[in-house]
Amino acid sequence: MKEIMKEVIAKLKEADAVLIGASNGLSISEGLHLFAENQAFVELFSDFREKYGIHNILQGMFFKYHTEEESWAFWSRLIKRFVCEYRVTENMETLRKLTEGKPYFIVTSNGEGHFGAAGFDSRNIYEMEGNFVEMQCSKGCHNKLYPADEAAEKMAAVQKDCKVPSELIPHCPVCGASMQVHSVVCPHFLVDYEAAENFQAFLKRFHGKRLFILELGIGWRNQMIKAPLMELCRQEKKAVYVTINKGEIYIWNDIKEKSYGLDGDMTEILAGLRQCMEQG
Ligand SMILES: [Zn+2]
Repeated sequence: MKEIMKEVIAKLKEADAVLIGASNGLSISEGLHLFAENQAFVELFSDFREKYGIHNILQGMFFKYHTEEESWAFWSRLIKRFVCEYRVTENMETLRKLTEGKPYFIVTSNGEGHFGAAGFDSRNIYEMEGNFVEMQCSKGCHNKLYPADEAAEKMAAVQKDCKVPSELIPHCPVCGASMQVHSVVCPHFLVDYEAAENFQAFLKRFHGKRLFILELGIGWRNQMIKAPLMELCRQEKKAVYVTINKGEIYIWNDIKEKSYGLDGDMTEILAGLRQCMEQG
């Protein structure tokens, strides 16, 4: 493993740009596990579990609450815990180190906004499924996104019986409808076209160059990020593809000779890569 990591770092050092693709595996390594009925979930949402039969965060995100007051009770608590109280983790610091001095772009389905919080430039991040750092008009009447943290913190502080007081629910300054978290769970979800365009511009800029594609914790069947990244590696002659995952290393046969699969714990592997980087 150490030898492979050294090779990976050598490839990274000679790369012209870094493209990061990230999904659940990275979130889990940072303590946010959307699918687990673990201690963190029970501590945060035991009342929701009891009242609505929700067994993990993802179910809570997609649950059809009867009222805005209940929906915002769930979301505000989630935002407070994973956005407002977030402290940049070792893994994020390592990713900053690995990309230091290089042009980079990040595509992710993670919605907790941790890349931005860790200091990555928001112009170089495309959160494909939105994020819960921001909110939007629930009717999607206009395109602007608004920060959600302050409102969420207020609502999280005073909620009772899985409900927030009606007067705290944020409303659209244009049409007056209630606001909703900027996420695919919203029926009128606003796609971030600017970020999507920035991503295309990045790909164009580094077409034909040495692109280092780093894929973090994405399930092997994923068609939204993983398959397109492998396709990109197939098309780009000088690209390198590195995937980090636990027990789910999957690389297409025809890109295998320019790919690396690092199987194991995300935190340990990132720490190993950082060590290799610092040693030489
Ligand atoms: Zn509106």
